[in-house]
Amino acid sequence: MLSVIIPAYNEEEMIKKTSETISGILVEEKIDFELLFINDGSVDNTWNVINEESARDPRVKGVCFSRNFGKESAVFAGIAEATGDCCVVLDCDLQHPPEKIVDMYRLWEQGYEIVEGVKASRGKESAMHKFAAKSFYDIMSNAVGFDMSRASDYKLLDRKAMNVLLNMDEKNAFFRALSSWIGFKSTEVTYDVREREAGVSKWSTRALFKYAINNITSFTSAPLHLVTISGVVVTVLGVGFSVEALYRHFFIHNDEPGFTTLIVLMCFVSAVIMFGLGVIGTYISKIYDEVKGRPRYIIDRTTYEK
Ligand code: UDP
Ligand code: MG
Repeated sequence: MLSVIIPAYNEEEMIKKTSETISGILVEEKIDFELLFINDGSVDNTWNVINEESARDPRVKGVCFSRNFGKESAVFAGIAEATGDCCVVLDCDLQHPPEKIVDMYRLWEQGYEIVEGVKASRGKESAMHKFAAKSFYDIMSNAVGFDMSRASDYKLLDRKAMNVLLNMDEKNAFFRALSSWIGFKSTEVTYDVREREAGVSKWSTRALFKYAINNITSFTSAPLHLVTISGVVVTVLGVGFSVEALYRHFFIHNDEPGFTTLIVLMCFVSAVIMFGLGVIGTYISKIYDEVKGRPRYIIDRTTYEK
């Protein structure tokens, strides 16, 4: 059986349509499935709509979080609650074309354990957003060791891969990268990102920035090395300036011009130190989060018996 995992946050307008579209496609292809909606603490009518759908069609199941835990947590909850032999994760807004589920499923039948949905195009985005996304994916690609720029959360995972992900203790897991990192026999399916059909994107610039920092620091310690490198650069510069200052003091006897240098250097050094402390602080807060060992999400209720 195929479990289709759909995180939903304030998607009241989309649930019914998404559920019907996907069911329609899978029934036609004679694929046995369940639809698992994860209500990620929506403040609108999403949970009621999920309940209605689930009453109408027993293959539709719903999980309701006690509050908003973020899409990543919703995906993990979906994987944990799914009962299928494999699962597909996709967005509730039908930006991930549902017909591709069939292609993914057929590849799974051929023995692939992970089928990555890869974006052929990125849809409509502002120039600023494009630039930010590119920088983020460059850093991530470097950390993970393969091209992440076209990666997405749309993918199929075999039961084996699902279990591996569930057994990871990481709380700050970045699903998109983690699914490639675990290995297994994988392949790709390309798709075109569609326009969102209803509702609005849940990402503000601030949320995206937080998401980027969070995922970069979950996956790589490169920013820490950056601190070390800037430390070395500043030291070299500092030694150079000091030698110059001493030389002036002892042999030329005109100290005043050095004043400017001093100010510039002081600002520069304190900026680097502040930046360094910031980076280290970010990692420490991560360690703090992991050490607390809190659950990734809290389930309030479900549409089925637990
Ligand atoms: N989502 C979620 N929790 C959140 C934010 C988003 O479960 O805190 C879900 C949302 O309902 C949708 C998917 O994640 O199914 C992608 O969200 P969205 O379409 O807003 O992102 P975008 O497509 O703009 O990247
Ligand atoms: Mg979307």
